[in-house]
Amino acid sequence: MFAFDKTVRSFLLSEIVQGLKLTFMYMFTRPRVTINYPYEKGPISPRFRGEHALRRYPNGEERCIACKLCEAICPALAITIEAEPREDGSRRTTRYDIDMTKCIYCGLCQEACPVDAIVEGPNFEYAVETREELYYNKDKLLANGDRWEAQIAANIVADSPYR
Ligand code: SF4
Ligand code: SF4
Repeated sequence: MFAFDKTVRSFLLSEIVQGLKLTFMYMFTRPRVTINYPYEKGPISPRFRGEHALRRYPNGEERCIACKLCEAICPALAITIEAEPREDGSRRTTRYDIDMTKCIYCGLCQEACPVDAIVEGPNFEYAVETREELYYNKDKLLANGDRWEAQIAANIVADSPYR
């Protein structure tokens, strides 16, 4: 009887029909859980730790005051800073490098910065083809800051009640 039952079920493709029934049920009656990346992107937390950026004040002046706290706290020794005073007496970096191949995205540089200059921004799409492209210099970091400033500033405001 068991063999007969199995034969009939195989002949009628009942398992395939059951599987397709489940597929169509999910296709037409359940909300989608996938997105069409890269054309669609999901929401990202304000605390997301993405590509690094150096920020400026609204007047264009660099925020970084070359205190080197980020360099000192970086557990991966990924940050290299050189600095010297300007003619007006303010202290600014002459070199600000991050070796992104060493970075472990811990966020400690951002936490240590007293002026919110170095941040891990919302950008996660920065895959490159060569190792050299992951050696970021000051120009690259400032360009990242200029590009993402609106979203970075909004994220800092959104996260401020919890800091
Ligand atoms: S995120 Fe962490 S590892 Fe990366 S540069 Fe900042 S302090 Fe260093
Ligand atoms: S980025 Fe912030 S912590 Fe690092 S040197 Fe500049 S001001 Fe100091």
